Formats: sequence, structure tokens, C-alpha cells
Amino acid sequence: MLILFGFNTRVKELFRRQAVCSNCGQHASQRVDERSTRFTVFFIPLFTTRRRYSRTCAWCGITAELSKSEKNALA
Ligand SMILES: [Zn+2]
Repeated sequence: MLILFGFNTRVKELFRRQAVCSNCGQHASQRVDERSTRFTVFFIPLFTTRRRYSRTCAWCGITAELSKSEKNALA
């Protein structure tokens, strides 16, 4: 019997917020994304194994990882 299983990563934009960028120091729009890695069987996602958050500055374009508490502080 053959069972196809694997992982799938999906990126979803959570929100945008005006904040001071830690890289360029500008007060600009910061986009917060969630990357969720899900376990799949026959390409059907069953459950999420990992969630990561990142912030992208609209002014300078830098992307930085965020912890869950940093993401909640921005929201
Ligand atoms: Zn910036």
C-alpha cells in the first residue's frame, strides 16, 4: 500500500500596521505575515506543525522574523 505524505508551507498576510521600522527608522507600513507548515496526506492538509511570523517594511523592504508575542504586540 502506498501512502503519500509530506509538508506544505502556506504564507498568509495577517494585517498591516503603521510602526517604526527597526532597520531604517522610518514610520512606515509594516506587513505581518504568518507562515504555517502543515502535514499532508495525499496532498490534503491534516494539521499545522509549525507557525512562524515575519514583518516586512514597506519603506526599505526588509523582512524580519517575529515571535508570537511580538506579533501580538503589533496587532
Ligand atoms: Zn524599514
